[in-house]
Amino acid sequence: MFLKIPRLYDSHTHFLATGEFAAGLHLGSLKNANDVSSLQLSPSYFRGDWLVGFGWNEKGWSEEPHKNILDKAFPNNPVFFARMDGHRSWVNSRALDILGATSQDGILIEKDHLRAWEMLPSFSKEQDRHHILSACQVYNKAGFTHVRDMTCSEHLWNLLIEMGEKKEITLAIEENCTTHDLNDFDKTLQSAIQMKKAETTLLRMKGIKLFYDGSLGSQTAFLSKPYNGLPDGTRGMTLWELSEVEEVIKKTWTAGLDFSVHTIGDEAAHQMVQLVRKVSAQGFVGRFNLEHAQMLRPETIQMMKPLHVRCHMQPCHWLSDRVWLKQKLGDLYKHVFPWEALRLAQIPMSFGCDSPIEPPSFWRNKQALEESPQHGIRKFTGDLSQVHSHPDTNFAADSYSVFAEGELKEIVFNGQKLF
Ligand SMILES: [Zn+2]
Repeated sequence: MFLKIPRLYDSHTHFLATGEFAAGLHLGSLKNANDVSSLQLSPSYFRGDWLVGFGWNEKGWSEEPHKNILDKAFPNNPVFFARMDGHRSWVNSRALDILGATSQDGILIEKDHLRAWEMLPSFSKEQDRHHILSACQVYNKAGFTHVRDMTCSEHLWNLLIEMGEKKEITLAIEENCTTHDLNDFDKTLQSAIQMKKAETTLLRMKGIKLFYDGSLGSQTAFLSKPYNGLPDGTRGMTLWELSEVEEVIKKTWTAGLDFSVHTIGDEAAHQMVQLVRKVSAQGFVGRFNLEHAQMLRPETIQMMKPLHVRCHMQPCHWLSDRVWLKQKLGDLYKHVFPWEALRLAQIPMSFGCDSPIEPPSFWRNKQALEESPQHGIRKFTGDLSQVHSHPDTNFAADSYSVFAEGELKEIVFNGQKLF
């Protein structure tokens, strides 16, 4: 069976991290924390003298990850190993010293984790060019011609401009800059404004993103009811004060940029929708992107209707989360992955894969939509190709991908046949 999709779009991805991941140290095969001592190392795994890896998952390990294990295996280098969910990291004592961070066991979570990640020494320009080319290949091989990147920096932007002029970039790219707190926000906004002035026909600056809550895997997504079975009644956490987010929305919209927010928990999403309505009622106008939208209550969806909103969902997360989702959420499970409820409410949606957390793949999203109805998730009756296609028909207009039996047969980007 042939399937031709115009402007195949991954609407939520981490572009540079996808390239770094393709060339980096993978920890997903560790069977135990102590196995780090037998890792085979290559020069491409280092940033400066830091050893950096991704993707560990302690499920099934007989010992907990601990800084002492890394201290013993890598006494001479600072080590930063990010967990598979991208919300915590495992570091050694040298790393803690350099970061000026304190952690009894060497595990950094959420903001501490993200700060540590940002403090890592940069790759060389050559390493980064290599990562950008690797990322383009990863997406193109999966059939994507359009991506929306959530993790821009001036450095990445400048390289994309430079490599775009040489026609080395085989993707239409939308960029967003992430702000972590009000201290860095003004600087982030100013740099996004400058980048917007330098847009090209294939590279756009869209706006500002922030993380309002965490992840379900780490019990940091912010819920309206306690996590099922946790004795302390925790509902997760929020990473910003509402008044601070309000300031971000107003300044971002005033600059003509989009406001995008990561929310996983139903209460996190509800509070953001409420806040955007409040800011809109004060006369501020702008676009609002709800990233993940993994749990939405019916009243939250109703409240979204008058807004310039788009939900960016990644069905493939369901494939990874399904084993524990029901157990963890209990009664709130009925609100997960509400793609059909959003479709019925006519809220615009785009699908993506959140690479490198999940591999970029139209077909894994299709699989999730096909299998999830057997697990109590309402069946999506919309057109998957349509929600996976870039909505702007003028953006790299002559782009399409052809699949036969799930395999990519042809990909044309901006009039140029890639393979
Ligand atoms: Zn993401």
